[in-house]
Amino acid sequence: MGQYVAPIRDMQFVLHEFLKVEEELKSLPDYSEVDADIINQVLEEGGKFTAEVLFPLNHSGDREGCKHDAATHTVTTPKGFKEAYKQYVDGGWAALACDPEYGGQGLPVVLNNSFYEMLNSANQAWTMYPGLSHGAYECLKEHGTDHQKKVYLPKLVSGEWTGTMCLTEPHCGTDLGMLRSKALPQADGSWLITGNKIFISAGEHDMSENILHLVLARVPDAPEGSKGISLFLVPKYLPKEDGSVGERNPITCGAIEEKMGIHGNSTCQMNLDGAKGWIIGQPNKGLNAMFVFMNAARLGVGMQSLGLTEVAYQNALIYAKDRIQMRSLSGVKNPEMPADPIIVHPDVRRMLLTGKAYAEGARAFTSYVALQIDRELHHPDEEVRKEAADEVALLTPIVKAFITDNAWIATSEAMQVFGGHGYIAEWGMEQYVRDARINLIYEGTNTIQSLDLLGRKILGDNGAKLRKFGEKIKAFVEDNGTDEAMSEFVTPLGDLGDKVTKLTMEIGMKAFQNPDEVGAACVPYLRVVGHMVYSYFFAQMAKIALAKEDSGDNFYKAKLATARFYFARLQPETATLIRQARSGSANLMALDADLF
Ligand SMILES: Cc1cc2nc3c(=O)[nH]c(=O)nc-3n(C[C@H](O)[C@H](O)[C@H](O)COP(=O)(O)OP(=O)(O)OC[C@H]3O[C@@H](n4cnc5c(N)ncnc54)[C@H](O)[C@@H]3O)c2cc1C
Repeated sequence: MGQYVAPIRDMQFVLHEFLKVEEELKSLPDYSEVDADIINQVLEEGGKFTAEVLFPLNHSGDREGCKHDAATHTVTTPKGFKEAYKQYVDGGWAALACDPEYGGQGLPVVLNNSFYEMLNSANQAWTMYPGLSHGAYECLKEHGTDHQKKVYLPKLVSGEWTGTMCLTEPHCGTDLGMLRSKALPQADGSWLITGNKIFISAGEHDMSENILHLVLARVPDAPEGSKGISLFLVPKYLPKEDGSVGERNPITCGAIEEKMGIHGNSTCQMNLDGAKGWIIGQPNKGLNAMFVFMNAARLGVGMQSLGLTEVAYQNALIYAKDRIQMRSLSGVKNPEMPADPIIVHPDVRRMLLTGKAYAEGARAFTSYVALQIDRELHHPDEEVRKEAADEVALLTPIVKAFITDNAWIATSEAMQVFGGHGYIAEWGMEQYVRDARINLIYEGTNTIQSLDLLGRKILGDNGAKLRKFGEKIKAFVEDNGTDEAMSEFVTPLGDLGDKVTKLTMEIGMKAFQNPDEVGAACVPYLRVVGHMVYSYFFAQMAKIALAKEDSGDNFYKAKLATARFYFARLQPETATLIRQARSGSANLMALDADLF
């Protein structure tokens, strides 16, 4: 069923040539020993594991799906998932970027990021089981008590136990302030939690010995709304003193959802019938603690979509070179065949290059953000840590929404390359489109990400974080503005940077008069800023490629062609998006709801 080869050459380009990670990591004492050899070895081994173990289970997992047994409340994952998970744990993959204090390998997030791209290309549904554990690890590490860290972190790090995030309830998804699950304090310091959660990814499964649910609930007399939410750790099995699993806790799976994609991942209705839990952080401050998990998950969803973009593109490319239909408009290219391969047709190339550009743009972008996380967590200088944290906060909603929107476009174009063969299940292309769709919805819909970017991250701090990032772009434009060879990249970058500044000010002014202006502008606005970020990264990558264009390594020729395609064909949509963002709220709000 198709193929997947980890794009190690491009990953190495991004890590070694674009980001110069080896040099960067030298300034972070915890990672000063991580050199190019270690990085390349992990990439090679990760590429083998994902292509050989996980990818073969992707299509079969989709066809088979998960099975729920109502009598025992158990969920059986598709054939091979459990065994692959054992290989993952035995190989130490779960521990890659975790703290050695809890048994981790202590490697940087920027390297784990590349591995996560591979995991998601190979099998997004499978990757969600360990993927959620990583968010739980980060949340507990930051907000857990010493005892919680001691008991639970080593199990999450090794992968013996997995994690979940239990936020959503039937009547509240986006608006968590309305949640109703209740927690009652017990004399021994624990809490008994009652409520119903829905859509809980990996809520029940057969891959690990225990599952740690991070559950949002209300304590007695909690204030209304989001200020009255607390976070609890609720294990499926209560751990014994020696760390082994003990009594079954009454948090059970009542059903699993039938859904459009990611069939290999269980989406569970979870019933808590007085389940025992322990509070994480302070009462009523649960959302604050959960945000650590949610931010990790938002970046993780961006990675899911990068993975899908890459694998869909790879398969479309193979097909386009093999499938023969019609003759090239500019004359026969393959006279010995009855027709030319479809890659000769300009529009097939447009579809392929869309996938290639969105994959390479997202790879550079997410790797950059991952390196900023490493700096935020490990740089010795507090000022640098703060700057990195601000940038990660600004860029997180863009990673989530821009990459997932682009993957929806790119996987659909990749399917289109196959014509009717893309629409039928046999080739596996329709699965990528189905799997990609959820990424625009969960972890805060893309509208919510756009509101977060424009309302909270940009207007909320009077544009300070955006200005800081803009200064980097300005410096690059100034440094390269006189280089003629760079003008095709630098001119549109500088121009878009100026337009974003003006657009932000304009919306900010309008928002003073009418807050609906933010809601009306935010979605096209995020895409415009996303393109500004990609323009900045593609311009930098083009500069490296220009310098090595004649090196004899065709990789650089391809990189330049991709950057040129990006600026010529994808980035210009910003003109329309800016018009949309400026068009104001009246065209949306004028119609009375009854008149729709
Ligand atoms: C397969 C799957 C897996 C999931 N996994 C998990 C999980 O592991 N844990 C978990 O807790 N949840 C999970 N979810 C839930 C998911 O995060 C929610 O579905 C999502 O946050 C949206 O909530 P909702 O479905 O209630 O939609 P609603 O909140 O009802 O939103 C409906 C629509 O209204 C829009 N909207 C809402 N408020 C605003 C606003 N202020 N401004 C503009 N538009 C707005 C939304 O963008 C959306 O388009 C999962 C969902 C699915 C389908």
